[in-house]
Amino acid sequence: MTATNNGDWLATNDPSRRSWVESANAPDTDFSIQNLPFGVFSDAANPTPRVGVAIGDAIVDLSVLAREGLLQQDASLFEQPSLNAFIATGRAQWRALRVRLSGLLEANSAALRDNTALRKRVLIMQKEAQLHLPVHIPGYTDFYSSREHATNVGSMFRDPKSALLPNWLEIPIGYNGRASSVVVSGTPVYRPNGQIKLPDSERPIFGACRKLDIELEMGFVIGKKSTLGDAIPCEDAEAHIFGMVLLNDWSARDIQQWEYVPLGPFNSKGFATTISPWIVTIDALEPFRCARPEQSPQPLPYLRHAGDHTFDIKLEVDLCAAGADEVQTISRTNFRYMYWTMAQQLAHHTSGGCNVRVGDLMGSGTISGPTPDSCGSLLESTWNGQRPLQLPSGQTRTFIQDGDELVLRGWCQGDGYRVGFGACAGKVLPARETA
Ligand code: MN
Repeated sequence: MTATNNGDWLATNDPSRRSWVESANAPDTDFSIQNLPFGVFSDAANPTPRVGVAIGDAIVDLSVLAREGLLQQDASLFEQPSLNAFIATGRAQWRALRVRLSGLLEANSAALRDNTALRKRVLIMQKEAQLHLPVHIPGYTDFYSSREHATNVGSMFRDPKSALLPNWLEIPIGYNGRASSVVVSGTPVYRPNGQIKLPDSERPIFGACRKLDIELEMGFVIGKKSTLGDAIPCEDAEAHIFGMVLLNDWSARDIQQWEYVPLGPFNSKGFATTISPWIVTIDALEPFRCARPEQSPQPLPYLRHAGDHTFDIKLEVDLCAAGADEVQTISRTNFRYMYWTMAQQLAHHTSGGCNVRVGDLMGSGTISGPTPDSCGSLLESTWNGQRPLQLPSGQTRTFIQDGDELVLRGWCQGDGYRVGFGACAGKVLPARETA
């Protein structure tokens, strides 16, 4: 493996770089040549899931490129139903491949552009492909790191004057979630059944959730494992991150309210978590790095880091209501509002010696902003159902109804191009019959 010098990889973020894949040059495509996110796909011609990179409206089949000798990596790394094997090769390899792909797809590069037969085998149209869960996820953790979200929820369920619990400004609060029910965008989600305590009855009922909600989050994927017993220092934490996805932490608010004391959410969160299919690397996000909000009090020493450790990522939630044709954007916010950074979350997670593994998924927590239209959950935007949303079709919504489809979108806005995440979509199906 030849070393990749810094100049090579910085050129992959050059805003003026264009691709011979024309659709990648559209100012509103998520998948510009500056992005190059990784995923796993299959298609009718080859139903075996394998690793690809999104470019414009197409996918680059890395297994074919490697077999043809156009990549330094062995094809077996990409003939895989997950990215874990490739991710485990480490940051120098991720970066070298990014440089190579950017070079092959760049407008003036003839090797692939002018080889029609090879190009047909390497480029698959996204609309003809099926996207799969991009990583095998050994563990999933969800944080609670938006000050606005925690304040809204605390005001609603406790007391507006002491909305934030005393530990919130000291600890990036989190819980160990359920990896087995993380699904890729497009997978339908059944309304969960569970225990619900109605206000006018002494004992709970068991039945279909009546307050089904989304949580607009982003997730990060661990790219470098740590050893049991070792803490990852805050300053080194980003070196353990492969990239980011959109994440919808579907939440059953009525089940949650009854079960969450004393050990936190369980069935109310464990029935499904949806992620977007493309993992956007930290290298692709680099031009959009920005400062986090001011932190006061100053965090304890193990949670301190110098420099900027978050990213300017615009986020939206679209609702396609059952029985309506139009799509309504019900929230607009930004990842940069998050109080605790990914590095602080990871430093805290491992501070007692908990190890992380390649492919582990960490959810940011619901991302709410400072304005009423920037809430990351229906719980907040309808204030627990008290202020229904008016939809253009004349319908209203408090919580999600059967047949509703929720779509999260996110992108970094460059000068004339985007580094986007695609869609994180899920349609809600009626609850299964209970016994
Ligand atoms: Mn959550």
